[in-house]
Amino acid sequence: MMSPLHAVIVACPAQGHVNPLMNLAELLAMRGFFITFVTTEWMDQRLLKAASKDAAARDREIQGRGFKFRFLAIPDGLPPEHGRTSEIGELLLALQSLGPALESVLSVADESVPPITCIITDSYLSCTAEVAKNLGVPRVVFWTTCTAYAIILKNAHFLLSQGHIPVKEEDLKSKDKLITCLPGKIPPIRPTDIVSFFREKHVSEVIYSASLYESRIQNIADYVLVNTFEELEGGIDAQIGLSVNGCPSLAIGPVFLPNFLQGRNSVYSMWEEDKTCFQWLDGQAQGSVLYVSFGSMAIKSEKQLHELALGLEACGYPFLWVLRSDIADGKSLDLPEGFKDRTKDRALIVSWTNQLKVLSHLSIGGFLTHSGWNSTLEAISMGIPMIGWPYCGDQFLNCRFVKDVWNVGFDFKGVDVDEFKVVTQEIVESTIRSIMEGSSRVKLRENVVRLKEAAHKAVTEGGTSYSNLNTFAEDMQKIAKSRV
Ligand code: UDP
Repeated sequence: MMSPLHAVIVACPAQGHVNPLMNLAELLAMRGFFITFVTTEWMDQRLLKAASKDAAARDREIQGRGFKFRFLAIPDGLPPEHGRTSEIGELLLALQSLGPALESVLSVADESVPPITCIITDSYLSCTAEVAKNLGVPRVVFWTTCTAYAIILKNAHFLLSQGHIPVKEEDLKSKDKLITCLPGKIPPIRPTDIVSFFREKHVSEVIYSASLYESRIQNIADYVLVNTFEELEGGIDAQIGLSVNGCPSLAIGPVFLPNFLQGRNSVYSMWEEDKTCFQWLDGQAQGSVLYVSFGSMAIKSEKQLHELALGLEACGYPFLWVLRSDIADGKSLDLPEGFKDRTKDRALIVSWTNQLKVLSHLSIGGFLTHSGWNSTLEAISMGIPMIGWPYCGDQFLNCRFVKDVWNVGFDFKGVDVDEFKVVTQEIVESTIRSIMEGSSRVKLRENVVRLKEAAHKAVTEGGTSYSNLNTFAEDMQKIAKSRV
C-alpha cells in the first residue's frame, strides 16, 4: 500500500507569507496530504504567543480536525533582540543560509512520518533549492503574490540586461514609459510597477542584491503555484510567464477563501487580535465604516500619520484604524492633540485585529490599505473598494492594478513615484469620499462585487482554483507512484 503524500511546506517568517502558506497547508491536508509545516523558531513562537497556545495544544487542535500535520521550527541564526521583519535585509541574508538546518531537521528518522513527496517553498526562500535537490524531491515554488509581480521578479535579470533595472529616477517620473518586453502577456507595466527594491534610489543595497539572488533561484522549480485566480489575471499566461522549463504553473487562490467560506480559521496572526472591534462594528450602519490598516510591516512618519488622522476626522465617516505599535517609523504614534476626543463617537483604534473578519463585516464600506497582496485579495474577495497607499515591494504594482486594471479603487496621487511624499489631510479626505460616496463608489462597488463573485466561484468545487489544486494533488500522486 502506498503511504500518504507528504508535502513539506516552508514559509518565510513574515505575516503576509505565513498566512497563505498555512491556508495552503490546510487545503492540502484536507486532500489527504501529510503536512510538515516549517518556519523559523522566532516566527513559531510569535504565532503561538499571539494565539495564547502552547505547541501541544496547537498539535491537538489540528490533529483533532483529522489532519495529519506536524510543525517544525528551525533557528534563523539571528540574535533574540533582532527586529527580523523590521530589518528585512539582514533577515533575507539569514534566510538564505537556512538550508543545512532545514535539511537536518527533515532528515531526522521518524517512522510515523511518510517519505517526502515534495517541498513547497515560499518563492522568497532560495535555501530550499539545495535541500530539494539533496533530498531528490520536486521543488514546488509557491508565489504569495499576484502573477504579474511574480513574472517581473522572476525576470529581474532579464530586466537588468534590458536596462530597466535599476529603475532610474527619471523613468519613475515619466508618464509615457511602458515596459512591454516581459513574457506571459502581462499588461504593459510602468517603471513604478517594478519591485521597489530595484529602484536606483533604493533603500538598501543588501535588499537589492538579495532580491536579484532570489530571482535567480526562483528559476529553479519543478512546479509553480500562485495565490491568485485565473478570472482576476486571466489575460496573463502564467504557463508562459512563470513556468520553469515547461513545468505546470497554476493559479490556486485565494487560498484563504475556501477555509473562510467553510467557517474555519484562516488567519494566523503574529500579534494578539483585538476582539472588541466586532461589537463596535455591529453598532455601525451597513457599508458606513472605513477600515484603515497598513499590514504587518509598512511604517510612516509621524507627520504623515497626523495628516492622515486629520483627514479621517474631516471625512466624517466612522473608521476602524489599526495602529501597530511600531507604525510611526518604528515607534508607537502620539495622535494629534484632542483627536481621540473629537472622534470618539465614530472611531475605534486597535493595535491588531482579524482583518478578514473585519473586511467581511457588513458595516465595512471601504479599505485604506498599503496594497499588500494578501490585503488586496482579501478586499476583493469580500467586495470592498480600496484606496491604495503602497510602501514597498509588490505593493506599487498591486495598487496600480487595483486602480487601472481592475477598477476597484483609487490611490493618492504621486505616492507611486515617491513613497515618502506627504499626503495632505485634504487629499486624504477627498479620496476617502470618492470611494465611500457618489457615482465613483457605485462603479467601484459594481466592479469589485463582480470580482468577489468570481473569486468565490474559483475556489468552490468545479471552479478554476479548486480544480487546479486537485490537478496539483494528482500530479504529486503520480510522482509518488513512480517512485514506489
Ligand atoms: N492582517 C491582520 N490584521 C491586521 C492587519 C493585517 O490579520 O490588523 C493580516 C491581513 O489579513 C493579511 C496580512 O496580515 O493577511 C498582511 O499581508 P499583506 O500581504 O497584505 O501585507 P504585509 O503585512 O505582508 O505587508
